[in-house]
Amino acid sequence: MTAKPAIVPPAVVALIGLGNMGVPMGARLVKAGFAVTGFDLSEAARKNFAAAGGRTANDVAAVAAAEVVVMLLPNGKIVREAVNALRPHLKPTTILVDMSSSDPIGTRVLGEELIAAGYEFVDAPVSGGVKRAADGTLAIMVGGADATIDRVGALFAAMGTSIFRTGALGSGHAMKALNNYVSSAGLIAAVEALLIGRKFGLDPVLMTDILNVSSGKNNTTEVKLKQFIISETFADGFPLWLMAKDVRTADDMAHALGIATPLADLCAQLWDAAAQTLDEKANHTEMLRYMEGLGG
Ligand code: NAD
Repeated sequence: MTAKPAIVPPAVVALIGLGNMGVPMGARLVKAGFAVTGFDLSEAARKNFAAAGGRTANDVAAVAAAEVVVMLLPNGKIVREAVNALRPHLKPTTILVDMSSSDPIGTRVLGEELIAAGYEFVDAPVSGGVKRAADGTLAIMVGGADATIDRVGALFAAMGTSIFRTGALGSGHAMKALNNYVSSAGLIAAVEALLIGRKFGLDPVLMTDILNVSSGKNNTTEVKLKQFIISETFADGFPLWLMAKDVRTADDMAHALGIATPLADLCAQLWDAAAQTLDEKANHTEMLRYMEGLGG
């Protein structure tokens, strides 16, 4: 059987979800020459994408012409709702790519359903945050059929520089949740060290410099402590509730697989509690404020 053709510019792409990540990632696709139409329930989000050079549509029917539908939505449940709304408008040959951080079990169920109906579907979540989304240097972890991944490779190349094939459908989402669990645990450790050191009389900036050339270095010490936490700007574009969701996903995976993970259990509890305590728009680096509050 001959392979189906690769999707290359100027192919028509629909982008569903024009938030912190959707706008810069969509702008990379536009820059690469794809004909991108963005859709979001929020008018403000659509305006942001238009300001970044994208075309926008007011209703999901705009996906009808798309060869590929890329989704950057808050979670797997919302992806499922969006797919249900899109389906009456999709061409039978459409490829769907879920680049959100969705729950891997739900992704398997949704993907198998879509594939049984004749569509191609892969999960391709990303890591690197808003800055790397704008630079086109994201890490992308892709689960699903190799033939489909080959077909949408030009889209991934426009958005990322580290593209990994993680295995079967849902494996990209599993890897993403596990990455964010590790990242979130490192953030809590760094914030706790900062609180202890500060009270003991250490200078937080000096602490960060020392951590970053010592064995305590991690992603938080390198790109978050000074930039967003010590400066208290809390503005890296990754909301706390989304981090809480990812850590909970990783912990749920552990439970479903019967693996004892006491640290992940505690971590998930802390992120959930912080999400319930802080403002719903809080950035994940505001974990500092939650941890300070615990001390009274
Ligand atoms: P966001 O909340 O900024 O954007 C999500 C957008 O989806 C919003 O504009 C919202 O209006 C829209 N939306 C919600 N339901 C919709 C629907 N049914 N149809 C159309 N639009 C709908 O979120 P984000 O920060 O852009 O994150 C998107 C995904 O990427 C999440 O799964 C997140 O976990 C993941 N992610 C985020 C970051 C980050 O740094 N922000 C990094 C890596 C991965």
